[in-house]
Amino acid sequence: MKFDIVVVGGGLIGSAAGKYLSQQSKSVAIVGNAEPADWQSHAENFGSYYDQGRITRGLDASPLWSELAVASLEAYAEIEHQSGIRFYHNAGAVQVGPSPRKTDDYIAKTAAAGFANLVDFQNYTSEQFQTICPQLKFPADYAVLHESIQGGYLNPRELVEAQLKIAKDQGATIIREQVNHVETRTDDVKLVTGQGTEIVANQVLVCAGAWSDYLLDANLGLEVRPRTILLARLNAAEANRLKDIPSVVFYAGVSHPDLTGIYMLPPIRYPDGNIYLKIGGKVVDQYFPESADDLNAWFKTDGSKVETEALKHEIYQVVPGLQAEELIVRPCAVSYTPDGNPLWQEIEQGRLYVCAGGCGAAAKSSNEIGRRAAQMVLG
Ligand SMILES: Cc1cc2nc3c(=O)[nH]c(=O)nc-3n(C[C@H](O)[C@H](O)[C@H](O)COP(=O)(O)OP(=O)(O)OC[C@H]3O[C@@H](n4cnc5c(N)ncnc54)[C@H](O)[C@@H]3O)c2cc1C
Repeated sequence: MKFDIVVVGGGLIGSAAGKYLSQQSKSVAIVGNAEPADWQSHAENFGSYYDQGRITRGLDASPLWSELAVASLEAYAEIEHQSGIRFYHNAGAVQVGPSPRKTDDYIAKTAAAGFANLVDFQNYTSEQFQTICPQLKFPADYAVLHESIQGGYLNPRELVEAQLKIAKDQGATIIREQVNHVETRTDDVKLVTGQGTEIVANQVLVCAGAWSDYLLDANLGLEVRPRTILLARLNAAEANRLKDIPSVVFYAGVSHPDLTGIYMLPPIRYPDGNIYLKIGGKVVDQYFPESADDLNAWFKTDGSKVETEALKHEIYQVVPGLQAEELIVRPCAVSYTPDGNPLWQEIEQGRLYVCAGGCGAAAKSSNEIGRRAAQMVLG
């Protein structure tokens, strides 16, 4: 098989990049693993988007991340319209942290980036916010930045499906295979998949998420961090009590010593028919996988016990009186770059490129990150 451009990895960034590339070239393929039906028997790479909710917000302490998020938020309506797939829910989102009067400048930086990027948000103390949302509780005299209009969450599976549908409608070929070998040659790049398929392309863009460095072996400096999330199953009454809470990002000043921050999504219905409240965080204790096999093995575990216990503690602090029928643990993984920004890099001049390093925050911004990756490839 021969294509003008191949995108390796059809997750959140790869599907967006493939969409933009297929607007410019009639010979584009997106080659990547599909979501496994059964995690335990899955013998290939996983992905970081197998879920029903990812927080979306324009506010971020980093001006670049805020800019990428705002540009992506502005594109959601068009993606939904073009694909016919709804993935965005503007449930509102809050950023919570110690008041800038008291301690570090996390909240001040976040607000400054918000002003610079024209994000619509309101600034409350935790006490004021409790009168707006009595179901949630944050420490006294903290600051709460509330994006009530554009913030909320998106369904990452449906966003991927929407981007791939648009790419396909524009003529792209979707190949559900894993690439195991990448070879740059004088005039092209040869890829070999796990099924032995040989694919040749003039240009290749690798968007294999946390697996990118393992595939390219190019010392990209990506730090892969396994993560554990907790899903609280809610009965109908509890789901109804909590139905109006916003997405929460609480990245400074949480109470548990093993966590540097947490995030939480409002109640969302999952494919098993149940409604879950999801909480995840940044844990201090870390295990770093050294290979794709190590990372894939992590997805077959029950996650980190330390992280699970810390999240169990924190969920009841933020949602006092939470009535959970059951707490379910799921493993996942994110990858960080040395500078904390997404990585757009040319590996072999004019031939091989990579875009990865979502830093645990790229779902909401994946459209703009993928658009810029496509621009890099097209020069
Ligand atoms: C638990 C959790 C919660 C998160 N919460 C948020 C949030 O609230 N808001 C937010 O904005 N972001 C969030 N993120 C981050 C976001 O999901 C990631 O930044 C995003 O998925 C990165 O996109 P990606 O395309 O780089 O990787 P992925 O979405 O993982 O896509 C990579 C794709 O490449 C495939 N692949 C891997 N290896 C190969 C190969 N060799 N050949 C072909 N294909 C391959 C994978 O199977 C996958 O399909 C969260 C992440 C996790 C894990």
